[in-house]
Amino acid sequence: MKIGVLALQGAFREHIQMIRACGTDAVEVRLPVHCDDIDGLVIPGGESTTISKLIVEYDMLDAIGACASSGKPIFGTCAGAILLADRMDGKKQAFLNLIDIDVTRNAYGRQIQSRESDVTLAFSPATPFHAVFIRAPIITAVGPAVTKLSSYNNTVILARQDNILVSTFHPELTGDTRIHQYFLTMAGEGSC
Ligand code: GLN
Repeated sequence: MKIGVLALQGAFREHIQMIRACGTDAVEVRLPVHCDDIDGLVIPGGESTTISKLIVEYDMLDAIGACASSGKPIFGTCAGAILLADRMDGKKQAFLNLIDIDVTRNAYGRQIQSRESDVTLAFSPATPFHAVFIRAPIITAVGPAVTKLSSYNNTVILARQDNILVSTFHPELTGDTRIHQYFLTMAGEGSC
């Protein structure tokens, strides 16, 4: 099994390290042809406007859509979650629209209001997960098909709809591989 990590901008190297730490092959994805032999895709955090422009420029929009519709799991963290969301500030985005959530960007405020907090994962509740938020979005609404997997301050911060997983924080920046393991189980591997 091989997981692709969209490597146009942002924290892609950290995701590759985490997936490899879970014992699974991980490769950088920049072009549609790179999607042919991957079993799942991570869209990392970074700057969502920049990544969205690069996705269009590198002709990756349809390739990501095709990945999703063929059932391959896609994991978007922070900016990646924004790019997968159906709506932003109540308005439908003209983009991937792969998960029925509404997001507001930079909703915790300025960089200085970025934060870290111990949160509970629904699939691994015994040990807290240290969540790192960096200029994070807030998920302001979730549709009925979305499963809430973790919350912070009464908002959902980790959510799944079918083969799409999103987090508003950065699980690749801790040494804790549980969320990546969970994603790998969605791709048919892993031991979570
Ligand atoms: N603030 C960024 C955005 O709106 C997301 C930040 C991140 O991915 N850590 O795109």
